[in-house]
Amino acid sequence: MKWDRQIPISWLNIQGYCEYKLFLREVKGIRPAVLTIVNEGIIAHEEIQIAHEKIAKELEEPIEDIIKKIPKGEHETISLSEFNVCSKKWGLIGRIDNIHILRGCVAIYDFKPGPKVSWGAQRQLKAYALAFKEQFHWDKEINIAVSSYAGKGDDWDPTQNVIWDKWYTSEDESEVIAIVQRLRGCFEGKRKFQPTSKPGKCKTCEYRDICSMNLINNSQCINDRKTIEDHNNAIELERKNNSSACYTRGVINSKTGNFLKAIEDFSGELDLSPNDKFGYFERGNAYKSLKEYPEAIDDYNKTVFLDPNFGPAYHNRGLVYYDIQNYQNAIKDFTKTLEMHTNEWKSHPCMIYIHHGVSYLQVYDNQKRNNIKNVVRTLSQNPREAYITRGKTYVKIGEYGKAIEDFSRVIQYDPTFFRDFILRGHANLLLKNYRKAIDDYNTAIKLNPNAANAYRFRGHALQSINRIDEAEADRKKYEFLKKQPIHGEKEESAVS
Ligand code: SF4
Repeated sequence: MKWDRQIPISWLNIQGYCEYKLFLREVKGIRPAVLTIVNEGIIAHEEIQIAHEKIAKELEEPIEDIIKKIPKGEHETISLSEFNVCSKKWGLIGRIDNIHILRGCVAIYDFKPGPKVSWGAQRQLKAYALAFKEQFHWDKEINIAVSSYAGKGDDWDPTQNVIWDKWYTSEDESEVIAIVQRLRGCFEGKRKFQPTSKPGKCKTCEYRDICSMNLINNSQCINDRKTIEDHNNAIELERKNNSSACYTRGVINSKTGNFLKAIEDFSGELDLSPNDKFGYFERGNAYKSLKEYPEAIDDYNKTVFLDPNFGPAYHNRGLVYYDIQNYQNAIKDFTKTLEMHTNEWKSHPCMIYIHHGVSYLQVYDNQKRNNIKNVVRTLSQNPREAYITRGKTYVKIGEYGKAIEDFSRVIQYDPTFFRDFILRGHANLLLKNYRKAIDDYNTAIKLNPNAANAYRFRGHALQSINRIDEAEADRKKYEFLKKQPIHGEKEESAVS
């Protein structure tokens, strides 16, 4: 079912609290009485708006024109309240509490009670930034911030009460796009609305009395605190056991190619252990295998949020960006992976796993999980694949010199892989370094006399320097090898 309604950006905040709440609210249409805290928020927003209106001036021309003029210094900087944004591309609409449009940047403020700023609230701001950027073709920096109106007086100023802020980045953009696509998938019936896994949220939720997913039994909660504590302890115990079982089954399902089942397992595990970086990483790998790229990126984002030093997550996210042709982000991720590996390294058989995610690992014994952790650690010390993939990405964006540097580094450490020479040969060929390209293809052929692509592209290089007979011989050899059944290692395509 296609669902092409626009998504109000405030839904991202609700989704951060509990996605199932959106199901009750927007699919079932249930609207319980507004909570006191929400009422207080509405009143605070109204008061701020009234104060702003007292000093507000009419805009003398369309806002689109003003926003174009400000960076050029043709209009003074402005501050706007209750500013509507609408992104056609992403199907988002929203109203920004306060926005300051300056020459070199925009600052977007959202007003919250504070002191905590939830993930949902942060995503709401990222979505405002995404919509603003798209709607007004804004190519300068965007700062996003939450201002607390707790204890607000008459002279309350959002810029003086910031409790969280950050510069909006391409990673934020990917994160929020993935969430928007996920939400759309929920409304289209492609995936389930996930209830929260935190009982504390259910305790204060306005749907707690009617929600079948409520994690708290209200009567017990009110009447017998002791029973609730016992109940929670029991859940906690079972949670640990179930969580581990779900994870292990997920790894096996991934390994055997049952990615949909694996995703269910990892989701089950994450409901029980929402801070498990391995669960997100593995589920990201399963989504990646199914080419569900926004979901994969979302999971890798969560992995690195939980552990910013988790190199394989950057690498695999880079591979996803590579697949969706977002080469700039792919390079950033491969570079990040490489920054984590400053030590000398040697080629290691484990490197093959990184390309497909550790889901493919053999699961041998009771220490399954520890084995996987160890391999992830090994991968973190082995950046070979990151150099290769970054090099390939440089080729895609025409930065052949940088690609050659990356392939050379790999070759310098281990000059026994014929495919690495084909890759460097191809970058040399594109750079019109024909002789160097021929040298590389020669070495590749020496290492693997059946490397069809090495003949094919050496033929192109020879042709370019008018060695026509040799080029023709290579072409024939390539045609011959192409028809042979593949023996041994699959050959690297130089143009992949
Ligand atoms: S009661 Fe719990 S599960 Fe149900 S909507 Fe509220 S927070 Fe979500």
